[in-house]
Amino acid sequence: GNAHEIDIKQLGTIARRAFPPCMLSLYSTLTNQNHLKHFGRLQLILFLKGIGVKMEDALYLYRSEFTKKMEPDKFDKEHSYNIRHSYGKEGKRTNYTPYACMKVINLNGGGAGETHGCPFKTFEANQLNKFLADNISNPEPGEVREIIDLAKNKHYQICCTKYFQTKNPGVKLNSIIEHPNQYFELSYSDRNS
Ligand code: SF4
Repeated sequence: GNAHEIDIKQLGTIARRAFPPCMLSLYSTLTNQNHLKHFGRLQLILFLKGIGVKMEDALYLYRSEFTKKMEPDKFDKEHSYNIRHSYGKEGKRTNYTPYACMKVINLNGGGAGETHGCPFKTFEANQLNKFLADNISNPEPGEVREIIDLAKNKHYQICCTKYFQTKNPGVKLNSIIEHPNQYFELSYSDRNS
């Protein structure tokens, strides 16, 4: 597979430069609010598994963030099992695959505190504006506007493809972005080659 050796201590840096918006948004919620709701936990954990984060490291990440606001006992009871389960180490040991864009885009959500899904769909215009301003360092004139208009017209994956291109101008894409892990592979190898 594509799995990399990911140093969990470097994950914040890796996230900012190579995660697609959907996963960067979840990672930010996890590290800023020290919590993720059910679908967010699942969406992020399967992605992390896909990029090569080891189960022990994923547990360490979630545990160290969650227990800033939650008793360690409670975390171990309520969340450790599910993380091991997502890695196929509990229950039926199913090998769950990371979600493709269509799956992420079509997740139901929008409940209080929920940040899963595709930001090009779920973010309000001003929230998307801020996200783009924070994450695209030197946009060409009109670039941000173009992405926002595409989002309004529900062309979420094309938004993501444009966003990718502004962040990784050296990479030639052969297709639009169809999978968060595809996005990661392309941007991570770009910066590490
Ligand atoms: Fe994530 Fe796909 Fe949306 Fe991009 S288009 S933010 S990779 S779900």
